[in-house]
Amino acid sequence: MKYEPEKKPIYGETLDSLEAHLVEIGEPKFRAKQVLDWLYKKRAHSWDAMSNLPKPLRERLEESFDINPAKRVLAKESADETEKLLLELVDRSLIETVVIRAPQIGVGQQNSRKTICISTQVGCAYGCKFCASGLAGWKRDLSVGEIVAQLIHVCHLEDATTQRAKEEIASFDNIVVMGMGEPMANYENLLPALRILNAPWGLNFGARRITVSTSGIVPKILQLAEEPEQFRLAISLHGATDEVRDQIMPINKRYPLDQLIPAIRRYDENKGRMITLEFILIEAINDTFEQAEALAEIALDLNAHVNLIPYNTVDGLEWKRPSLTRQDHFYERLKRKDVSVTIRREKGHDIAAACGQLKLQTEQDLKA
Ligand code: SAH
Ligand code: SF4
Repeated sequence: MKYEPEKKPIYGETLDSLEAHLVEIGEPKFRAKQVLDWLYKKRAHSWDAMSNLPKPLRERLEESFDINPAKRVLAKESADETEKLLLELVDRSLIETVVIRAPQIGVGQQNSRKTICISTQVGCAYGCKFCASGLAGWKRDLSVGEIVAQLIHVCHLEDATTQRAKEEIASFDNIVVMGMGEPMANYENLLPALRILNAPWGLNFGARRITVSTSGIVPKILQLAEEPEQFRLAISLHGATDEVRDQIMPINKRYPLDQLIPAIRRYDENKGRMITLEFILIEAINDTFEQAEALAEIALDLNAHVNLIPYNTVDGLEWKRPSLTRQDHFYERLKRKDVSVTIRREKGHDIAAACGQLKLQTEQDLKA
């Protein structure tokens, strides 16, 4: 099922495609750059705000393009300043975008930083056993414009509260593609969206500050490895042996570790950037001594960074978070082996920070 709304989100257009559209409707080409400037540099909220465009042109653009494809229906701020936004799309689908105001994801980020976590699909087809997004299955892929619109939405919110330096386009430091959905399963829309974020006429946001997280779709990891941009890669590993991974991530049956690890190595070789292995700690599943040892071996072999994430409980799922002591033991075991490792110390647990949880909760509340 291909999703085709009546009006396309304007944020899915590139300089080239917008120029082509304008020429087609008999308007001058140079207007495209003006429109993009309004959207990304001056951050207009409406067509009416684009004061150097003739009114008839604004009206024609409004007929073809949606300037507000993702509306906020809920914002939840946690005590530690993680803000979770629930956005409603034109077909009433709900997606999540999270603003994280602290160091936690990626490598070497010791200062307070702002990271935006975006979604790429409504739901997810991969059905990892611990994940709220996978619970209800996959509904549809997000379009290019819907992916970009999440960042613009955050920009609008931030513009209202933060002073932005003139030369800065975005007031945040990192983008992580770790929200709802499996980004690599929507590669077709993901890559053009990341290119719009990266483009000088777009958000002009550096590829090195964008991290794509995947559960391990090997052919797509290899494809991204061949792209010219230096996007960062994070792998949701969550199990250091096939036995454990098979138990919680169905994708591992399709792409087991002996295929996944060489693909990560190839990405590493092509990009020369340290890769992050995400590892959720789940009690009695993957928090054992043996898993720590096996994880250390993989991380050292790949020269990868390990990000440990204590499991966030999900209503309706049986898994538990290990005790603090157990989490510390696991962490220390990796440290002792000289693995580059961090442990996420609670961002947003109180607002259901893990992917898909806020959407799930809201839908359950609506049903109740
Ligand atoms: N599909 C991609 C990206 C979205 S999931 C992926 O799997 O990498 C984003 C991250 O949240 C993944 O690392 C995922 O494993 C993690 N996650 C999912 N459910 C979680 C939970 N209940 N507690 C903590 N992390 C969770
Ligand atoms: Fe999908 Fe990622 Fe959740 Fe697995 S962890 S179900 S791949 S969103």
